[in-house]
Amino acid sequence: MKRELSRKKNIVNIVWFKKDLRSSDHAPLYEAALGEYPVLPIYVFEPDYWKQEDAAFRHWEFTKQSLEFLRADLSTLGQALVFRKGKILEVFEDLRKEFTINAIYCHQETGNAWTFERDKSVRYWGRFNGVKILEYQNNSIIRGLADRDKWAAQRDKFMSKPIIEKPNIRPLEIDLAQISVDINFRGNSVKNNKQIGGAENGWKYLESFFQGRGNNYRKDMSSPLLAEAACSRISPYLAYGNLSVREVLRFVRDNLYNDKKMVASSKSFKSRLAWKDHFGQKLEDDFSIEMACLHRSFEKLRSKTPDITLLNAWENGETGFPFVDACMRYLRKTGWINFRMRAMLMSFASYHLWLDWRKSGKILANFFTDYDPGIHWPQVQMQSGTTGINAIRIYNPIKQGIDQDPQGFFIRKWVPELCHLTNAELHKVGTGPTRLNLGSSYPEAIIDLDSAGKYAREKVWAVRRLDGFNNKAQDIVKKHGSRQNKSRDFVNDRSKASFKLRINRQKSFDF
Ligand SMILES: Cc1cc2nc3c(=O)[nH]c(=O)nc-3n(C[C@H](O)[C@H](O)[C@H](O)COP(=O)(O)OP(=O)(O)OC[C@H]3O[C@@H](n4cnc5c(N)ncnc54)[C@H](O)[C@@H]3O)c2cc1C
Repeated sequence: MKRELSRKKNIVNIVWFKKDLRSSDHAPLYEAALGEYPVLPIYVFEPDYWKQEDAAFRHWEFTKQSLEFLRADLSTLGQALVFRKGKILEVFEDLRKEFTINAIYCHQETGNAWTFERDKSVRYWGRFNGVKILEYQNNSIIRGLADRDKWAAQRDKFMSKPIIEKPNIRPLEIDLAQISVDINFRGNSVKNNKQIGGAENGWKYLESFFQGRGNNYRKDMSSPLLAEAACSRISPYLAYGNLSVREVLRFVRDNLYNDKKMVASSKSFKSRLAWKDHFGQKLEDDFSIEMACLHRSFEKLRSKTPDITLLNAWENGETGFPFVDACMRYLRKTGWINFRMRAMLMSFASYHLWLDWRKSGKILANFFTDYDPGIHWPQVQMQSGTTGINAIRIYNPIKQGIDQDPQGFFIRKWVPELCHLTNAELHKVGTGPTRLNLGSSYPEAIIDLDSAGKYAREKVWAVRRLDGFNNKAQDIVKKHGSRQNKSRDFVNDRSKASFKLRINRQKSFDF
């Protein structure tokens, strides 16, 4: 009886943080704090999640830094972040022994298949145990979206609402626990130019971008040498929710820059922010995008068991194509690379090496600090030619090297085995029998570029010409396609009307 009474006294609202590690513009936190009960803000480290093939140590590093920042931040609002480890339902059950849970407030997460299932189980557990699970929209990704045609308007409406303030929260007595874990993670730490988690750091990147770094954003974003400084670099801060997209958009709006270049940069930057949610919406609408070809006719295209020699060479930056290897080695060390080079790495794996995207996509996910399933899997499929609605883009790594690194600075830095070659020689490596002194440690090209590209193009087009292919493709456009058609390096999704025309005329592009 005594125990029952004391339990009733401790009624709490739980705020469950997932990939929304911030305190401002956070609807669940704000709403939970409005109530009459103390707030229990919690992050649960779930070992089963971190065992998934797409999870990696560098993701945890960034998460941990974000949690430490969030803990300090929340303590200034009234109650510091509580940290727990284990299976989510067991953690909630334990809390139920200590407290009466009024409700669990959280964001809807557009994550991998594992988190989709986990969230379903939490909903079921809540219903079964009479605990309200209140899930809030995350950025402008809309759960149960009825009609893609109306998505952009709904996004505009969401983005135009005021930023949600940080609330004051009523504290409670609870052991916070140290933010530390002891499991074997996949992959290693970022070595160079590490980005440190926490909203404050995200704001610093954003400010420096708008104070000058971003002046040549449009021009420099494609070069791996220049993009590191010229791009905003806020991707991990968005992926882990240290910043909300709405906060970033508001920052851009409130800091009007008259400088012509910066106006142009802001425009391109804002479209990319829209792409983030556009892609996230695709995964939200169809979580099988992580697991199956969007256009199912491509399922039998490549063997699901990858050629391990080719896969390892690609993963380790030892393909014998200097620009590909330089990009991969840079990514492994820094946890980041620019969009064009991500696209080239993926295209090279999927077309020239003819590897199934599921395995190579996971390898890239492990290397990206900013891994965000909502952007990643739709992009991986797009660069592998399996969506059925995008132009086939086969990046030529030799051409990319010449275009983006004509003086070979980037290649020489990351593939020092080739330092002794002249620029002309450098850009010939991989193009055939070079008869150059490559140095014994640098491998010969693992494939013949021209014939591999030709083979891939023919195979993909053979599928695209199959009976019924276009009908299915049009259904995909209807469900997932962008209703805008402005940008070249975006999606090439088009409206249904222009789609028929395009699919007949379309050629593959070699970049
Ligand atoms: C195969 C492949 C996988 C990718 N995987 C991821 C991923 O896991 N996580 C991730 O954040 N981005 C991913 N991208 C998109 C893009 O490369 C990165 O968002 C960008 O390089 C991050 O650097 P930035 O923050 O300086 O970007 P900026 O150019 O400054 O752009 C600002 C923000 O807009 C969004 N954005 C930029 N480009 C794109 C794009 N093409 N599609 C969707 N959103 C975009 C990002 O949130 C980014 O932080 C992937 C691209 C490809 C080709």
